[in-house]
Amino acid sequence: MSSLFQIQESYGTGRGLFATRLLKRGEQILEFTGPIISLEQALQKPADKLGFPLQIGSREYIDLEEPGVWVNHSCLPNAGISKDIFLVAIKDILPGEEIVYDYSTTMDDHTWTLECRCRSHNCRGLIRDFKDLPYDEQRKYLEQNIVQSFIREKWGDE
Ligand SMILES: [Zn+2]
Repeated sequence: MSSLFQIQESYGTGRGLFATRLLKRGEQILEFTGPIISLEQALQKPADKLGFPLQIGSREYIDLEEPGVWVNHSCLPNAGISKDIFLVAIKDILPGEEIVYDYSTTMDDHTWTLECRCRSHNCRGLIRDFKDLPYDEQRKYLEQNIVQSFIREKWGDE
């Protein structure tokens, strides 16, 4: 098990990842791992099955394993995905704080939306594709380099 985080119950969202020590901005927290699956296979996963496949290409997903599968979404994240598969801190994360990233930085399949219960002051209510984010949020995430490359290629240089 990692010395950086532990898995605990998270209010309203099932299990989540919580920092066990101060994580400095820029620090790598984990690598997302799991078998590569297609959009069709991702859609066949039972809806009640925990976990959300991580999109890494226009039709490619990682069927996430532990511990990456337990990382929850927030509309006000303290982490993001760098180089498609590494979870990194985008601000200092205090011990005991839940580690969360914005799922919309990985989503561009015109298929999924998820109801959001992150309770942040800027909660968007619905987790949707990157293209549906407010423009300022898109720019911020692109500048932080925490948008999946296949999305960045489409949206990054307009
Ligand atoms: Zn939210």
